[in-house]
Amino acid sequence: MLLRRLKLSGFKSFVEPSELRIEPGLTGIVGPNGCGKSNLLEAIRWVMGENSPKSMRSGGMDDVIFAGTASRPPRNFAEVVLAGLDSEGRELEVVRRIERGSGSAYRVNGRDVRAKDVALTFADAATGAHSPALVSQGKIAQVIAAKPAERRMMLEEAAGIAGLHVRRRDAEGKLRQTEANLARLEDLMAGLD
Ligand code: ATP
Repeated sequence: MLLRRLKLSGFKSFVEPSELRIEPGLTGIVGPNGCGKSNLLEAIRWVMGENSPKSMRSGGMDDVIFAGTASRPPRNFAEVVLAGLDSEGRELEVVRRIERGSGSAYRVNGRDVRAKDVALTFADAATGAHSPALVSQGKIAQVIAAKPAERRMMLEEAAGIAGLHVRRRDAEGKLRQTEANLARLEDLMAGLD
């Protein structure tokens, strides 16, 4: 996926609505320690569906919401919008919003969707919260130390086929359910004879 715009509101240190345009070519983010550079990468991961508190450097999911400072009250929600083009050049806008105590909701191109749909959307666009394209601190060492199965998962994400595993699991579940229904139907029909 080609990322074009990132909008944050109430996310970690980005309390005021902030918009970043990601221009073609290499983008560098510079600033003093603690100004929020890593928070930006985390916002990209978060909108892609990241739910691991460790990878978000937080204790619980509500911790991504602006917690307040000595001079500013905390916020009750955080929202991140990621816009860009999918692998076929179509406009894609994904929104994730979290309200304190009520969990997350997602929208893709204005439609309410499930977390799973967002994960599949990004997997098909050969990216996602665990994509090797998002290189955070310590990631290089992690790739070097990865086991063969973990490396294979990274390659599958990069190739855009990670979503196929999810679809296969779903299809297998439906098949099992249908087989159980058929068996039940046969029992019922035998009872009618
Ligand atoms: P470094 O260069 O040291 O790695 P950085 O620019 O990557 O720093 P971040 O780690 O992204 O900075 O930002 C850390 C800042 O974000 C800290 O000041 C921290 O207090 C603030 N922060 C994190 N979560 C929240 C939150 N929920 N509410 C308010 N501020 C937060």
